[in-house]
Amino acid sequence: MEKYELVEENVGIGKVAVVKLMRHRETKEHVAVKFIPRDLTIDETVAREIINHRSLRHPNIVQFKEVALTPTHLALVMEYAAGGELFYQVLYQGRIKEDKARYFFQQLIAGVSYCHDMEICHRDLKLENTLLDGSPANRLKICDFGYSKSTLLHSRTHSRVGTPAYIAPEIISGKDYDGKLADVWSCGVILYTMLVGTLPFEDKSDRQNLKKMVQRVWAVQYEFPDNVLSEDSKNLISRIFVANPSKRITMKEIKSHPWFLKNLPEELKEGAHYVHYNEENTKYCVQSIEEIMNIVNEAKTKPVACSKSIAGFGRRIEENYMYSFLWMMIN
Ligand code: ADP
Repeated sequence: MEKYELVEENVGIGKVAVVKLMRHRETKEHVAVKFIPRDLTIDETVAREIINHRSLRHPNIVQFKEVALTPTHLALVMEYAAGGELFYQVLYQGRIKEDKARYFFQQLIAGVSYCHDMEICHRDLKLENTLLDGSPANRLKICDFGYSKSTLLHSRTHSRVGTPAYIAPEIISGKDYDGKLADVWSCGVILYTMLVGTLPFEDKSDRQNLKKMVQRVWAVQYEFPDNVLSEDSKNLISRIFVANPSKRITMKEIKSHPWFLKNLPEELKEGAHYVHYNEENTKYCVQSIEEIMNIVNEAKTKPVACSKSIAGFGRRIEENYMYSFLWMMIN
């Protein structure tokens, strides 16, 4: 980590990690570094996050650069997205105008669709994990692959992961589900929230009530405010919010929906971004999987001070503990 100097503490705080802004001492390039404590939290999900994230190269996905070890933390070095979370745009503006929301949604779909082509489901898509690069083009960048799953490397998806406001009904049931279609649902929640300014399934009179929200997700109970949204946007959202995943609109169908296609930027049209992107990223030197695994394994074993009884009790277990309540809530 010596090659980087600190620019700003805490550009983001996650479930377990702290993200800092740093600068490469020689190239002066800014990077975001996600610091995960070496004690309790280094488990197979961290390795999965890195391996999945490392395999992705797309203009709408924060670029993974390298992984390093400090005496106290595992450090994930990534491209820095200077524009902050899309979440704050909605928080400050209330809701985002339809053309702007479409521009962000088109990029979100481009990034997620690319992940799915690479057989990776994100499984925690939300406004807090969609960042902006701060450039004049305001490019959207998906981050946090902490819950991602490769359909090639891992078995069928059944873990109840995600964030309650964004999870699809089939995840609540605890049965096997298609991670790609669950990602489509989360994209629908992001779209609705951008356009309306509130989460679709929260009870407006009782916002903190998780039980009510989970019940509303299960019943697909949401409303469109009067005279705010275009008919096309309502049509797209209502085709995403379909309880039966096999009847839900697919990523491919979203990409040919009239609302999505309006003003679609040239670089987002099928196939265009791949060429552009590969040229742009040849400068990145990515470590081999073996090298990464060695670093992650070392992070698991040191520092030795970590108590054996609690070692391995990582964030996934804690999360599962919480989600085991979701099913109980709707019954
Ligand atoms: P966790 O997995 O612990 O939840 P995240 O990966 O979601 O951590 O990061 C936490 C927050 O840090 C994000 O919500 C975002 O605000 C900020 N962040 C993460 N990655 C970047 C990045 N590449 N550039 C700028 N900010 C980032």
